[in-house]
Amino acid sequence: MKALCVSDKVVSWLYSPAVLTKAHDVDVIFGCGDLPYYYLEYLISMLNIPLFYVHGNHDAEKEYTPAGDTITGPGGGINLDGRVLETNGMLVAGLQGSIRYKLEGSFQHTDLEMWMKVYRLAPKLLMNRIFKGRALDILVTHSPPLGIHNGADHVHRGFKSFLWLMDKFKPRYLIHGHHHVYRRSEQTVTLYNDTIVNNIYPYKILDIPVQRYRLPQSAGVEK
Ligand SMILES: [Zn+2]
Repeated sequence: MKALCVSDKVVSWLYSPAVLTKAHDVDVIFGCGDLPYYYLEYLISMLNIPLFYVHGNHDAEKEYTPAGDTITGPGGGINLDGRVLETNGMLVAGLQGSIRYKLEGSFQHTDLEMWMKVYRLAPKLLMNRIFKGRALDILVTHSPPLGIHNGADHVHRGFKSFLWLMDKFKPRYLIHGHHHVYRRSEQTVTLYNDTIVNNIYPYKILDIPVQRYRLPQSAGVEK
């Protein structure tokens, strides 16, 4: 499965007809947040493939279209926050937002709030492990995990609960944004246990092989 992953910054060639030739073979789009909805809608309409996204801390709670309609996310996109879904043979889940640094703002969470969101995902991930042979393939987040690709300041601090989720459920990938990368030498890919943590800023095209999983014998079938 080829995935176009985007985050935090509009990339000019992606927001142009060039996307049709340079990203013609991608199967799915993952949005890691802090992007205008018109940009994500452009990618959906040009590539005609599904978009799964989470909100970033700078996302507008509401945007207004030229026709006067109010929208709360990119039209045609699937909000992955707090959900576990399947696409192209991959189990995907999402967790929106950053650490809370202001009193107001829907897409900011305290550590405790993010722990609760992670715990709420756990039963679905356990069911996947039992019935699908693994808990999760790809976790889409805006914020990085604590201590991996995160910044020194509070606003860009990662979440400890993401480390726990990776410890327990071993997703193959955690893709995130939020931390902007300005130096080519900066590390953006880190292996944490069984999980490749990948800072997407501002975009990456990932080729993720679909793996075959053998279910426990009691389940009786191989997928
Ligand atoms: Zn952010």
